[in-house]
Amino acid sequence: MSITHSDLLFDQQHIWHPYTSMRHPLPCYPVEIASGVELHLADGRRLIDGMSSWWSAIHGYNHPHLNSAATQQLEKMSHVMFGGITHPSAIALCRRLVDMTPQTLQCVFLSDSGSVAIEVALKMALQYWQARGEQRHHMLTLRHGYHGDTFGAMSVCDPENSMHRLYQGFFSQHLFAPAPHCRFGEEWNEQDIVPFATLLQQHANEVAAVILEPIVQGAGGMRIYHPSYLKRVRELCDHYQVLLIADEIATGFGRTGKLFACEHAGIVSDILCLGKALTGGYMTLSATITSRQIADTISTGSAGCFMHGPTFMGNPLACAVAVASLILLEENHWQVQVNAIETQLKQELLPLAVQPKVADVRVLGAIGVVEMHEPVDVAHLQRGFIERGVWLRPFGTLIYMMPPYIIESEPLSRLTAAVAAAVR
Ligand SMILES: *Cc1c(COP(=O)(O)O)cnc(C)c1O
Repeated sequence: MSITHSDLLFDQQHIWHPYTSMRHPLPCYPVEIASGVELHLADGRRLIDGMSSWWSAIHGYNHPHLNSAATQQLEKMSHVMFGGITHPSAIALCRRLVDMTPQTLQCVFLSDSGSVAIEVALKMALQYWQARGEQRHHMLTLRHGYHGDTFGAMSVCDPENSMHRLYQGFFSQHLFAPAPHCRFGEEWNEQDIVPFATLLQQHANEVAAVILEPIVQGAGGMRIYHPSYLKRVRELCDHYQVLLIADEIATGFGRTGKLFACEHAGIVSDILCLGKALTGGYMTLSATITSRQIADTISTGSAGCFMHGPTFMGNPLACAVAVASLILLEENHWQVQVNAIETQLKQELLPLAVQPKVADVRVLGAIGVVEMHEPVDVAHLQRGFIERGVWLRPFGTLIYMMPPYIIESEPLSRLTAAVAAAVR
């Protein structure tokens, strides 16, 4: 089934794409096959993938192990309801998740997507305090954060460069501390935590939870901050007895050079959200993991249980692929892969910092970010990238990449060279 001109016209006229105008859509490139680190366009051109399909395809595309996990599961059953039923793939996945996350995180809630994992985390925090007989209705979070596009998740996204203005009045009002200033790898300045600490102190009795992206703030600006900030947040949450929700939907599974970004600060959250790379980019699936104590407390509340249960909860296909992806993560020695990418990204991207149009360059793990002074022309840049045989999708002032962990040095150089050409 190959794509015709009339298919593309239909697409343009009838199909919404993410954050894209229906009247003046940016061009959409038809992909027919994806394999390894390459996307094959309908016209035969091959592009090296620098995006991992938004942080998810960490082992590359069309991986034989993941394909076979999906096929084997498909032959048994692709889905069965999770209410009153369980199945081997969900059990195998949750066993692994409990084993690979910190010891206190014991109880796994599976859901459909990252945004829903956040809704679940927020609801857990609210039900926890309700069960304890306390009125705590606010979340405290950081500016420049991004937690997803559903209403609860949106309400804790950065209020300025997100949808707050559009949906004013629909949101619960939450508290926003300034984004951290101290950068990863630079000297820690104790002043950086003061505004957060003050806000938490003033509202400690109303705050159900602090929610943040540990170390790397992704879609809200690709900012990489100092681990001491996160360490202080944990200490303050302990001091004021507020729950800490770590949104590791983007950072989880090795992307920042640690299995989970919280490890950079040596802290453990009370609730952990995972998604994106969980199935190696094959299917949508997320997990919200919490402690026995929180799960028990919720279960002793007036509802007697946690009030959530998506139709496709614990989808066997997704769970089976996730198990295979977690096995691959180990077998492929993700740390060696990510370290090699980090070293090369530093060598090839950091020198771009001297370019006059470049405001900043930062690299952590398998993430490389070039921030420009002015917003970029996405359509124009993308045409250039495609001529150079690479797939990158800049936003705002940011040209960034988070390639699949399996990428080798030569294709990675093609990605960085394309970025270098674009900024010059
Ligand atoms: C992508 C993302 C989400 C939302 O996940 P979806 O699967 O797109 O709903 C939430 N938090 C972070 C940090 C993300 O990067």
